[in-house]
Amino acid sequence: MAKLAFLGLGMMGAPMAARLLGAGHEVTVWNRTAGKCGPLAEQGATAASSPKAAAEGAEFVITMLADPEALEAVVFGGGGLAAALAPGQVLIDMSTVGVDAFQKLVERLPETVTVVDAPVRGSIPQATSGQLVIFVGANPPDFERVQPILAPMGTVHHVGGPGAGAAAKLVVNSTLGATITAFGEALALGDALGIDRAALLDVLAESAIGATVKAKRASVESGDYPAAFKLSLALKDLRLVDDAARQSGRELRVAAAAREWMELADQEGAGHLDFSAVITTITERR
Ligand code: NAP
Repeated sequence: MAKLAFLGLGMMGAPMAARLLGAGHEVTVWNRTAGKCGPLAEQGATAASSPKAAAEGAEFVITMLADPEALEAVVFGGGGLAAALAPGQVLIDMSTVGVDAFQKLVERLPETVTVVDAPVRGSIPQATSGQLVIFVGANPPDFERVQPILAPMGTVHHVGGPGAGAAAKLVVNSTLGATITAFGEALALGDALGIDRAALLDVLAESAIGATVKAKRASVESGDYPAAFKLSLALKDLRLVDDAARQSGRELRVAAAAREWMELADQEGAGHLDFSAVITTITERR
C-alpha cells in the first residue's frame, strides 16, 4: 500500500479520497475549508494543516481542485506543494484545468518531480462507486506507476504523453456543453410549437441526446437543479475549450454557442446550481 496525499475535498474529491482509503492506502488529506477533512478523518485519513504538510513523505500527491487558479494557489501559494515536492514524488492532477495550466505547472516544478495529468469523466455517483473514467497523460513508465494508484477510482485510460489527459477532458466537456444546450433549445422549440411537456420529454428521450434527457428529466420536471456538477465549473470548462480552440486555430461554433448560454445562466445567478440549470435560462428566454 502507498502513502498518498489528497488535496481538494469538494464534491468529487471527497468520495475519490474515500475510495483510496477503502483500497487500504495511507492517506493524508488537506482542503482549503478545513472542516471538509472531518468525514475523511473519521474514515482513517490524517488531516494536514497545509498542502506542503500533506505532501511531505507522500509517494503520490493527488490534486482535485476547482480550476487553474485553485491549482496555482495550492501548488505555488503560501504553504504550497512546490515547497515540499522532492525527487521521486509523483504529482497527479485530476482537476479539469486544460492543457495550458497543466504545462505551466510542469514547467515551473523541478524536473525531478514527475507530474501526471489525470482528469475524470463521471460525477458524484461514479466517484463514490469507483466508476469514473480517468484520462491519463503520462510517459509509459510514469503511467505504469500511477495506474494501480488510480484504479480504485475508476477505469484508467492512457490517452498519450503529458498533457494528453487534460486535452481529452476538454474535448469531452465540449460535447457536454453542446448536448445540454441542445436539450434546452429542443425544449424551447417544442414548448413554442405547443407540444405537451411530458410528450416532448418522451420524444427527446429517444433522440440523439436521449442519455442526457433521461439523466436530467427529473430536474426539468421539478425545476430543481441541485448541483452535481456546478454550472460555474462547466462554464470554466467551456472557456478553456474556447481558449484551446483559438490557440489551435479551430473555429468551434457549437462550443462557442454553448458557452454563451452558460455565460448568460451564470449572469442570472445559476453558477452554484447544476450545469443543467442552463436549460431554464434557454426555455425562459424570448
Ligand atoms: P467543488 O465541489 O466546487 O470543489 C472544488 C475544490 O477546489 C474544493 O476542495 C475547494 O475548496 C477547492 N478550491 C477552490 N478554489 C480554491 C483555491 N483558490 N485554493 C484552494 N482550494 C480551492 O468541485 P468538484 O465538483 O469537486 O470539481 C473538482 C474538479 O473536478 C473541477 O475541476 C471540475 O471541473 C472537475 N469535475 C467535476 C465533476 C462533477 O461532476 N462535479 C465531474 C468531472 C470533473 P473549498 O472546499 O475550500 O471551497
